Amino acid sequence: MGNKQSEDLRKRKLKVLRLSLKQNCNFSCIYCKPENYNLDVLNIEQFKKLIFVSCRLGINSLRITGGEPLLSSQLVELLNEIRLQRFEESNPISHLQDISLTTNGYLLSKKKAMELFQNGLDRITVSLDAIDPDVFSKMIGEKNKFIGKEKLFNVLEGIDNAINTGFNPREGKLKINAVIKKDVNDNQIFKLVDFARKRSIEIRFIEYMDVGTSNNWMPSDVFFSERIISSLKKKYQLSDFGRKEGQTASRWYMRDSKSFISTISSVSNPFCSDCNRLRITSDGYAYTCLFSNEGVNLKPWLSQPIDLYELENKIKSIWEAREDNYSENRFKILEKTINVNQKTHPSMSYLGG
Ligand code: SAM
Ligand code: SF4
Ligand code: SF4
Repeated sequence: MGNKQSEDLRKRKLKVLRLSLKQNCNFSCIYCKPENYNLDVLNIEQFKKLIFVSCRLGINSLRITGGEPLLSSQLVELLNEIRLQRFEESNPISHLQDISLTTNGYLLSKKKAMELFQNGLDRITVSLDAIDPDVFSKMIGEKNKFIGKEKLFNVLEGIDNAINTGFNPREGKLKINAVIKKDVNDNQIFKLVDFARKRSIEIRFIEYMDVGTSNNWMPSDVFFSERIISSLKKKYQLSDFGRKEGQTASRWYMRDSKSFISTISSVSNPFCSDCNRLRITSDGYAYTCLFSNEGVNLKPWLSQPIDLYELENKIKSIWEAREDNYSENRFKILEKTINVNQKTHPSMSYLGG
């Protein structure tokens, strides 16, 4: 690790880099609503510089995301380059303990899963919000139910492709994310758990958040984690494993299926106090919080004549000036800003979820 472990104003260390490779997406989930416009996306050299200096600053976990990262033509090559540097002992990248990818799974063919595995990806999280094709179609914003059904089939096949390639769910190498929107897919919770249990996959239920402005989020749309866990407890034996510091998920173990159910309760039980995540968008903007209105443009520090120490110092100064804790104050902030002409703030697909 670099010798300069950055701390923000709330004494939180930088540990995780969420790097968005592509803001565009092939789905249009109702809770995310990506805006597909063409950005000036960074090239591999620039992504590599960002990863390198972030490792020098102390990150030990890299999550590749989007938008839809499998749409990026740079993904496999980038993974390969990181993989090679991970073997070099003196390289800060060798301190990466975990490289993961979040995807909607639609393009997770056998070939793609194999390429990801062979190029050093450690873990995959596939987003899957429903098992019933009609509900799935609604969640991904697909009006044509036949196409929606086909897309669901591809995602389910993608999960099996990943498992068969070596992303073993029992070793935590494959997980499922499900966002639950009240009265839209809350009837899928047990079906999703059944699907995941059969494959010993950890399934993580995420509370629907007010990221971005185009999803028209309402507090009444949130299906709280507590409700999920209390209803699951009526059917399954769940042992409480809690939430590890710096992680987003609170976990419950089910001994019979040897798998976990998790909740990510950013609305009902925020975890800002140990939030260690920096997000960098595909066009090179750094965001220290999902709810920041503006990011910092790193492009001037990614051009040739500037040396890596300048980029490192820039990111360090961004982290050290950070004070974010939006989720802890969400309802106070929302109360104040209601009826006020709010600035639009960026969607999850741009920020990198
Ligand atoms: N396209 C990929 C996918 O869906 O997995 C990666 C990017 S997506 C923005 C990353 C994660 O953010 C997904 O698991 C998605 O469900 C979650 N997400 C998106 N919008 C959200 C919202 N408003 N509230 C909670 N989670 C959200
Ligand atoms: Fe795309 Fe992921 Fe957003 Fe769904 S959640 S629209 S798959 S970026
Ligand atoms: Fe981190 Fe911001 Fe989410 Fe709090 S609201 S956990 S600071 S991203």
